[in-house]
Amino acid sequence: MTSESSSPSQGAGTRQEGLLHANEALRRILDRCSVIRETERLPLDCALGHVLADDVIAPRDVPPRDNSAMDGYALRAADLPPSGSGVLRLTGRVLAGDPAGSVVAPGECVRIMTGAPIPDGADTVVMREQADEADDFVRIGPGHRPGANIRRRGEDLRVGEGVLARGRRLRPADLGLIASLGLPAVRAFRRPRVALFSTGDELCALGDSPRSGQIFDSNRYSLRGLLEGLGTEIQDLGILPDDPEQLRSTLRESARSADVVLSSGGVSVGDADHVTQVLAELGQVAFWKIAIKPGRPLAFGTLGDRTLFFGLPGNPVAAMVTFIRFVRPALHRIAGQGPEEPLTFEVPCLDALHKAPGRSEFQRGILQRDGSGRLCVGVTGGQGSGMLHSMSQANCLIVLEHDRGPVAAGETVTVQPLPGAW
Ligand code: AMP
Ligand code: MG
Repeated sequence: MTSESSSPSQGAGTRQEGLLHANEALRRILDRCSVIRETERLPLDCALGHVLADDVIAPRDVPPRDNSAMDGYALRAADLPPSGSGVLRLTGRVLAGDPAGSVVAPGECVRIMTGAPIPDGADTVVMREQADEADDFVRIGPGHRPGANIRRRGEDLRVGEGVLARGRRLRPADLGLIASLGLPAVRAFRRPRVALFSTGDELCALGDSPRSGQIFDSNRYSLRGLLEGLGTEIQDLGILPDDPEQLRSTLRESARSADVVLSSGGVSVGDADHVTQVLAELGQVAFWKIAIKPGRPLAFGTLGDRTLFFGLPGNPVAAMVTFIRFVRPALHRIAGQGPEEPLTFEVPCLDALHKAPGRSEFQRGILQRDGSGRLCVGVTGGQGSGMLHSMSQANCLIVLEHDRGPVAAGETVTVQPLPGAW
């Protein structure tokens, strides 16, 4: 489970001045998440980023037979003196792809290429650079090691071995590993379907001319980027005005097909903030003021039987931070991925930071090396929750725990790498 290192207290103690502890909010969200049941068989070349629904068990050894790790000479170590050089008769050569079955008899060697099967009788490969070939004889220089330069059958994977577990999100190396086993397809969970929209009368779509008082809708693009990084299927519903009727019909409609509905804006207590009220009419709502900066208001609930709804705050940085802290772990769980703590580091902070105890704060940081090569973090410039530039400059979030006070320059802080920044 994603959480800060300081665990939340339970019961009444989780609220401070009516605010919910960020860890408690996450715990409640994860409690409502259930794994998608449908699975699909996918050709391996379409499987990147999908989550395995079955364990992958090795059906064969990899490599399938002993083979050479070098271009050189395959020989019997007993034919050479323990130190000093020796001369062997060259009787042939084996290339990668040649069938197994050639033989090295006592006093002989064969020229062998990387990946070629080790001939029967041979137990050692000596690098080409350590030998001199003349006519049909090879002088092997000193310093050979018996058994050297052979990749053993099954040294990478053994038949029957569990290679990857159900719940694994497939990475490039995993695809190669599965291919090395000769498996052309895998069974994966269906990807989560996420419906995404922005709300606000002030929002102008890209390509349109903004009227006076309008700004461009940026949240849909940053949130799409974060969703794409998670391998979700995105249904982009565009921009909705601050109109309860349109919100109602969009939520009703999207709940039919989506696993998760994600909106930004309209969750505060302003005159044009209708998301929470409409959600309460159509489903079950939990509206939280979370003890977190940026991102205090968050609407969370269910629509219909099983669709989860997240109403993120409209401020562009707050929308991204709340996505990373709350929506991302929820999508991991829904997608069938095993529990995963976000990767964090403890590093010295170059800057002094304002921080009041009683809320979790996420500042935008740049993880870097100082003059002596030590990892450290500095804050980006403007930290306002509307300043998306800081998010773009940052490569990590500086996680300031709930109970923590101000940070002096040089103090250790926790950082969480930003998705997509590495
Ligand atoms: P709201 O949560 O609707 O009160 O919005 C808070 C602030 O975020 C306001 O300044 C909005 O104009 C801004 N905002 C809301 N949605 C977006 C969006 N999709 N793109 C950029 N800014 C937004
Ligand atoms: Mg608004």
